Amino acid sequence: MTRPNMHYADLQESYLFRRIAQRTATYEQAHPGVHLYRMGIGDVSLPLCDAVICALHEAVDDQANAKRFHGYMPECGASFLREAIAAHYASRGVSVDADEVFVSSGASDELGDILDLFDAGSSAMVIEPAYPAYVDANIMAGRPIVHVPACEEEGFLPRPSEAARADVLYLCSPNNPTGAVFNKAQLQEWVDFANQCGAVILFDAAYEAYIEDDELPHSIFEVAGARTCAIEICSLSKTAGFTGTRLGYTVIPKELVRCGLSLNGMWVRNRTTKTNGVSYIIQRGAAAVFTPEGQRQVREGIAVYKRNAQVLMRALDEAGIWYCGGRNAPYLWLRCPDGMGSWEFFDSLLHQIQVVGTPGEGFGSCGEGYFRLSTFGDPRDTVEAARRIEDLLA
Ligand code: PLP
Repeated sequence: MTRPNMHYADLQESYLFRRIAQRTATYEQAHPGVHLYRMGIGDVSLPLCDAVICALHEAVDDQANAKRFHGYMPECGASFLREAIAAHYASRGVSVDADEVFVSSGASDELGDILDLFDAGSSAMVIEPAYPAYVDANIMAGRPIVHVPACEEEGFLPRPSEAARADVLYLCSPNNPTGAVFNKAQLQEWVDFANQCGAVILFDAAYEAYIEDDELPHSIFEVAGARTCAIEICSLSKTAGFTGTRLGYTVIPKELVRCGLSLNGMWVRNRTTKTNGVSYIIQRGAAAVFTPEGQRQVREGIAVYKRNAQVLMRALDEAGIWYCGGRNAPYLWLRCPDGMGSWEFFDSLLHQIQVVGTPGEGFGSCGEGYFRLSTFGDPRDTVEAARRIEDLLA
């Protein structure tokens, strides 16, 4: 009999967002026609900006023209997009070569696929609460996981320690779900730690575009020594509304070498075997994000979500609820009131005020007692959700 990958049996019963969807669907079935205020899953509510839409239309027309038609694209990404992304890094003072940039279909795909680069027995360190895909991808691959709990007292930004020793170190900044952001000195400690023990940092920068404070690093490559120990995984999902359009990019420096093998070279080999590239049309849409006009327009969208953050923060302040995040990140991480458990609080918001959030426990056991609100909702819904939260909790 064919033996399936038995590691799947070690996964929790259902992925966090599916569980939320199931509970929400049950509520909707019992209360037909009721409007829900969705502040849970981190999906965006604004459409793509004009610069992207125009580029997508032009690219569709190219595909109808024999002279401009594109078939298979280069597996690691079109040079026009890799160069645009490298130039974007350069505009922030970070030097990255175009052939160190790999275009992907999104950060989620990449966070799982990239594990191919590491030995089957490699361990992974995950700081929790964490984006659930880090843990689940490693469980599926049967890899040992070193869980590092982050606590409120250290601002959910633990420092490296012997307890964090692993082959692959996941760092997410700005953090999902806590909204915490590493400053340069804190990131430097992790880079020094990784270089000293030979580990590789997987730096998830999916939310870098939400950083407002000038001194905070958008990229791990702003920190000295990162080119010999880090891979950066980025996404246009939250930067430019590509959650349904799908495009991400990964930077693997050429200096990143382990046991004589270049991880950049290995990834080229991997991509040329396991993908046939991202569609020409989508890459053209993505390239428009990196033009001056595209940057201006995507910043307008981000500003809308930042106003949502302000609205929710004001409501929590009024209600006297402790929270962090919201300023340099699109999530607010709050302490559930009256010592409530996070699923208990989820049910109470859903049933009493029809607001859907995300229970902190879904991001790891140390998230119990906390709750995440997303700022990606429709602005009018966010205003109403904030009013209801304030009324309920004040
Ligand atoms: N990384 C983090 C921390 C996320 O929160 C998400 C999505 O919510 C992703 C990666 C996945 O992004 P993408 O849509 O590019 O797959």
